[in-house]
Amino acid sequence: MNVILFGPPGAGKGTQAQMLVSEFGMVQLSTGDMLRAAIAAESELGLKAKSIMDAGQLVSDDIMIGMISERMDAPDCANGVILDGFPRTVAQAEALDQMFADKNIALDSVIEIAVDEAALFARIENRAAETGGSRSDDNAEVLAERLKVYHANTAPILPYYKDKNKLVTIDGMQSIDKVSEDIRSVMQGNT
Ligand code: AMP
Repeated sequence: MNVILFGPPGAGKGTQAQMLVSEFGMVQLSTGDMLRAAIAAESELGLKAKSIMDAGQLVSDDIMIGMISERMDAPDCANGVILDGFPRTVAQAEALDQMFADKNIALDSVIEIAVDEAALFARIENRAAETGGSRSDDNAEVLAERLKVYHANTAPILPYYKDKNKLVTIDGMQSIDKVSEDIRSVMQGNT
């Protein structure tokens, strides 16, 4: 099975992706994690991405599409992937469709975790406190920018998948366990 976990920053995509990894043996492809690894490795890409990420902006479509396409060719992805943080623009969604068609991969569902954005600020502040501020983009100021970018560039993907009958929306304001339960039901409906 191959799914996209979709939602604004702080919606809980990473947490739910981990549940899917442990319960369904899928591979989590988090473009944010890949970029943070590139920053930690001080690669050319990492150096380029850091200032963009710290400002809450998006790294270019070409770079992100290339990154996912290359990663999808690894043998572990054959068991099914959870895309977490990709696609983030309509151009990325279109490129993903083409990529899946070329690689003969089916997209099962796009699972939107819908949240109340005022609550996101509280969550991000908690996450910043819990992780000791290890993510330099986890603060209220950058979050406001990331939400703006989400509405301008990422939310327009939703109608794209709705038209393709792929979109399932889950109430992300429930407890983590209840959100997991709803996602499990979607996964079971896919089998
Ligand atoms: P995330 O961990 O998914 O919240 O991503 C952190 C940051 O990495 C984002 O705010 C963007 O700057 C960058 N990023 C991650 N995924 C993408 C993507 N698919 N397209 C563009 N930028 C991305």
